[in-house]
Amino acid sequence: EEGSEGRESGYWRLSKLAVPASDDPGKDFTGISLPLLQAIAKAIKFPVASMLPDEAFTVIRKSFDARKVLKEPQFSYTVDMDVKKLLDMEPRAWDFIARLEPKLGAVEYMPKEKLASDLVSMLNVSNEGYNNELGIRDTHNGSICPQDKKPRVAVIGSGPSGLFASLVLGELGAKVTLLERGQPVEQRGRDIGALAVRRILQSESNFCFGEGGAGTWSDGKLVTRIGRNTDGVQAVMKTFVHFGAPRNILVDGKPHLGTDKLVPLLRNFRHYLKELGVTIRFNARVDDLIVEEGQVKGIVVSDSELRPGSGSQKLSFDAVVLAVGHSARDTYNMLQQHNVDISPKSFAVGLRIEHPQELINSIQYSELAAEVQKGRGRIPVADYKIVKSLGEIDAGDEVDIAEQSRTCYSFCMCPGGQVVLTSTDPSELCINGMSFSRRASKWANSALVVTVSSHDFKPFESHGPLAGVEFQREFERRAAMMGGGNFVVPAQRVTDFINNRLSVTTLPSSSYRLGVRPSKLHELFPPYITEALQQSIIMIDREMPGFVSSEALLHGVETRTSSPLQISRHGETYESTSLRGLYPVGEGAGYAGGILSAAVDGMYCGFALAKQLSLFHGDI
Ligand code: FAD
Repeated sequence: EEGSEGRESGYWRLSKLAVPASDDPGKDFTGISLPLLQAIAKAIKFPVASMLPDEAFTVIRKSFDARKVLKEPQFSYTVDMDVKKLLDMEPRAWDFIARLEPKLGAVEYMPKEKLASDLVSMLNVSNEGYNNELGIRDTHNGSICPQDKKPRVAVIGSGPSGLFASLVLGELGAKVTLLERGQPVEQRGRDIGALAVRRILQSESNFCFGEGGAGTWSDGKLVTRIGRNTDGVQAVMKTFVHFGAPRNILVDGKPHLGTDKLVPLLRNFRHYLKELGVTIRFNARVDDLIVEEGQVKGIVVSDSELRPGSGSQKLSFDAVVLAVGHSARDTYNMLQQHNVDISPKSFAVGLRIEHPQELINSIQYSELAAEVQKGRGRIPVADYKIVKSLGEIDAGDEVDIAEQSRTCYSFCMCPGGQVVLTSTDPSELCINGMSFSRRASKWANSALVVTVSSHDFKPFESHGPLAGVEFQREFERRAAMMGGGNFVVPAQRVTDFINNRLSVTTLPSSSYRLGVRPSKLHELFPPYITEALQQSIIMIDREMPGFVSSEALLHGVETRTSSPLQISRHGETYESTSLRGLYPVGEGAGYAGGILSAAVDGMYCGFALAKQLSLFHGDI
């Protein structure tokens, strides 16, 4: 029992607990089943699984694992074991726990439950769920600001980064005005409906612009490369649960919400911000910044909200958080006119591939595919994630050897989803994917994109730091032309694309509602992108036989994978390096790529700014 002193309480985190898919109650069950108790008993070498009390265990993570190396697909669990609870109910367990050894990545001892509790409590959200009666604290960290002395902050954009910046600043006592060029979710839904049915693209209310930002009519995947267990991500996830997201997003290995869950969540978020005293203005596009002596003093808003065509309104603020996303090209131009420090950033472009979901299920799950049942079954609809490093692909004489190697990867894979139009201008055409929470459509789509960097933007260098934007625009215009207008998307069978041909047979069906037109997509991009896509598709088919299929349809183009630029800011303060009082955040500023990372960036910017405004004195 050496080394076990002091471990009569606290938690053991047991990871990689495997339960065969055929024994598991299924993807939606996040409790403790007998087969899971058996896996726990094995991990702690306890002889009789059924004697272990369920109450002592909490599922922290549950993922479906159908890798071909496994004998059988399985659910993989991470479970926290509460030692005190366990010993209260089953004292005989001590003999086994005392002997438990930490094992890297599988068994870990924690003196206390790990919780992102500080951040969560600072955000003043509980996990009890949202209700309108929640009392809003008027004090925070002991500081109370009289209403008239509160610093005024404008937050431009109501995507995840703008919403979280507003939440933190509102909580900490700033007088926040949130300005959104698009419509609230209710009207935005109607505008998106009109786009799908009547082909009317509202320039300010569409898949990119409007309440909730670009990710609202999306798949709502809550995966991130910035670390699922970091305090920031946990605080954001718990805030989502507070505003109505299902609790299993906290446990699910690949959590996703779907549009139907995102819309009510955003409505609750809006009500809460309003209760907090945040002024929210929709249909209010910020067209300019008021700058005096290198400092932002306010903004100019087009006030179509009040009377269309009635001109603009100037508003004074102490600080401006810029959370405009990556499609606000007019806003980028405006920043350039103010000589804000902007630099081009690498991103990725390509095409979106769509397969019948059943085909992806059978490739990924073999016999188990029958159990998927359009998202209603015990196992999740199958997805995939692919990254392929490619060797040198000739990008022309002027490019360094080092720059020639590229990566092709799948992006924003939407199982059971649909391909949607993300253009903000009718002369341009670009697409992405979305789904509903059940992921029940008969298609699986994913972007296949190739990395591009500032070397590739050379033909557009007259646009300075906005060269990457022009690079995107070039292919969006070509795609619109190839489609023949009216938002019809150019499409090609993958079998034709890899052989540089266009066969005359009719195309397989597509989930894209506004129509597809057979096109030579292999001629849309320069050869260095086309060849990279072709090579990768062939490599993917070796790993996932059947991926190259006459039923697989490529759609063009996917250009807005992330921002083509970065707005420079100071690391600690989040303030622009060139314009005082301006706080660029989120994806549009080049600091995030996805819902979670954008939300986390907005949240930390909120704390950093609150500190500078003397509203907050803590450490984050
Ligand atoms: P945005 O969400 O883009 O928000 C910016 C907001 O600013 C917009 O609402 C815009 O209207 C507003 N705005 C812009 N300019 C102005 C102005 N001048 N004045 C006033 N308001 C302005 N990510 C995931 O993590 N998971 C997914 O499943 C996923 N699926 C996606 C599906 C689709 C169809 C799309 C388009 C994106 C998807 N993304 C997904 C990406 C994700 O939406 C973005 O990474 C995220 O929304 C970025 O957040 P943000 O706050 O930085 O900017």
